Amino acid sequence: MPFTSQFKIVMYAASMLICGTGLLFTLLNRRTDKTQNKIYVSTLIMLILNCISEIVAAVAQPYSTTSPAAAFLENAGNYTYFLIHIMVSPVFFFYVLVVCGANIKGKKKRYILCAVPCILGELTVALNPVTKWVYYYDNNMLYHRNWALMLLYAGAGLYIVMAVFMLMFSWRALNPKRRIALIYFFALVIGGLCVQFYFFDLRTELMGEALALLGVMISIEIEDDRIDADMGIYNRRALSADMNTYLVSDRSLYLLCVKITNTEIIKRATGSDSTDALSRLVAEYLRTLVPRYYIYSSSPGTFIITLLDENEQKAVWLANTIITRFEEPWDIGDNVIPLKATVMAASVPDRIKSVSDALYMADSPVPKKLEKNILTDSDLDYLLRRAAVESAISKGLDAENFEVFYQPTYHVGTRRLHGAEALIRLHDPDLGNLFPDEFIPIAEQIGLIDEIDAYVLRQVCEFIKSGIPARYGMDCINVNLSVLEFMQPAFVDRIVATVTEFGIDTKMINFEITETIAASDYITLSRVVRALKKQGFRFSMDDYGTGYSNMQSIFRLDFDIVKIDKSILWSAEKGQMGRIILDSSVRMIRQMKRKILVEGVETEQQLKMIRNLGVDFAQGYLFSRPISKTDFITLLEKEL
Ligand code: C2E
Ligand code: CA
Ligand code: CA
Repeated sequence: MPFTSQFKIVMYAASMLICGTGLLFTLLNRRTDKTQNKIYVSTLIMLILNCISEIVAAVAQPYSTTSPAAAFLENAGNYTYFLIHIMVSPVFFFYVLVVCGANIKGKKKRYILCAVPCILGELTVALNPVTKWVYYYDNNMLYHRNWALMLLYAGAGLYIVMAVFMLMFSWRALNPKRRIALIYFFALVIGGLCVQFYFFDLRTELMGEALALLGVMISIEIEDDRIDADMGIYNRRALSADMNTYLVSDRSLYLLCVKITNTEIIKRATGSDSTDALSRLVAEYLRTLVPRYYIYSSSPGTFIITLLDENEQKAVWLANTIITRFEEPWDIGDNVIPLKATVMAASVPDRIKSVSDALYMADSPVPKKLEKNILTDSDLDYLLRRAAVESAISKGLDAENFEVFYQPTYHVGTRRLHGAEALIRLHDPDLGNLFPDEFIPIAEQIGLIDEIDAYVLRQVCEFIKSGIPARYGMDCINVNLSVLEFMQPAFVDRIVATVTEFGIDTKMINFEITETIAASDYITLSRVVRALKKQGFRFSMDDYGTGYSNMQSIFRLDFDIVKIDKSILWSAEKGQMGRIILDSSVRMIRQMKRKILVEGVETEQQLKMIRNLGVDFAQGYLFSRPISKTDFITLLEKEL
């Protein structure tokens, strides 16, 4: 056998092995259910068949002049090669379309039109035994390319150009990994094609395609980084990427967000954190309703389903089905657990206009006042509000729309001024005045709370530096801190640096913190408090009695003042039970040698009550609401 034949056989066999490897592992991992997977598998099968037919032709060729059987085999091999190979580039074009998220079902006509060159090519090849337009054998059984082959190359080129065009068009819809995979693919395919075109004996075309497809498998078909291995459904990263793809390629779809609203019950019922087990269970159930590749879990207990090209009716039907299932309890381990869920259905792009909108829907808690199980478009206005508040916050930091208000605190016994709490306000030109209860939780979620608190601290430092607070005998000014910040390593240094910059006495600043963190972070929390107290700062525990704070933390963290939440005061007025809670709280805190401030004092009656209990300080509308700095200075002047 001549060397060229041997070389061809080796090239084709190697290409076949590469494709076979891709096919084997795709099937082993059962990545065959998505349209994208199906196209990928078909391409591999086509290339394998191509390799086989080329091997047959190459084996038969040396003997074809002498043996009619060999001549027939060579002929048949080449013929099937062409018949199959014509389809490779259109099929891959189709693959790129699907990966880029194009809506194929909705634009059938257009894509049928795309198939025309392929069909013409197939016809040309099919008729070749008669016409000999594509290739022919001379009397010595020597193979010759003919003019129609150039047309076939041009046809394949057309599909590649269309695919490249599609790629450019959907560039923003693809994540960097997919971009690189597809560019690499095209480079190898085009490279292989060109080399074979000029050096026909090198036979690089199939090899190029095989290698390119292997690259596609590694980077696009294998979705390890997109799948939650435990649940077998897509993760948050996949949700962002796919939403981006859909939005960029103008797909209309419905997003269904299933949120389990009582996950805390699992811990209570099972004694351990089995949220994962529960998520797995719910994921399994959802997979009975929709294919797994439409289901995502953005966080434990929250699931998102994408319903591509579906209408509201279908979305509501699905939401109802899911809610009905949640009326039954779930078996987790040995426990039977009743779960509560809310399902939101929002249309893309009408309501959900960006990836972050989708993530908000998944992340933000369902407002308590919406006591429905199924929330559809009109119920989801709060999501829009949230997006608006978010932009008001980020805009507000640059445009200086934030303002620090002050609310004075008083000695209960003498009604003398004691200090003040700095409370942030946001004046937005579009939304009007915003209150911290609304924007602080959002600022915490989008990571802007540090900047807000840093702004407040600087304002307070500036105020203290002006000498006014000291002149009017104020003890200190209270600054609220988000506990989230405490966990940052450079926190203490940053605070100290700010205060040093203004050159003020650290004693004048009292930080308020609400203990909302888990016991495991206790060590960090107490270390930070100790470090700041060493510098002279004071500390208050805020919102005592709201469920987060506990006696143990008062004892272990060195607070100067404990602020009893207004809800405790107000319920003490209403009944015996509340009264007992207030009394005993005050007594316990006093025994721990901490000062006590009661918030929310609105009436003389309430003031009298806490005076009788021996509370040290009071804060509330009875004295003053939070007011601007200018108004506060006026108030100070009057107090003197
Ligand atoms: P907080 O720290 O518990 O602040 C006290 C809240 O109770 C203030 O609400 C205040 O206006 C209100 N309040 C005071 N006295 C009375 C009263 O007699 N009756 C009634 N009904 N309310 C009273 P505000 O200013 O809306 O702040 C809400 C929360 O936002 C604050 O609760 C605090 O947790 C947070 N916050 C405010 N400013 C900041 C800040 O600069 N940084 C951080 N991280 N959080 C802040
Ligand atoms: Ca506070
Ligand atoms: Ca408070």
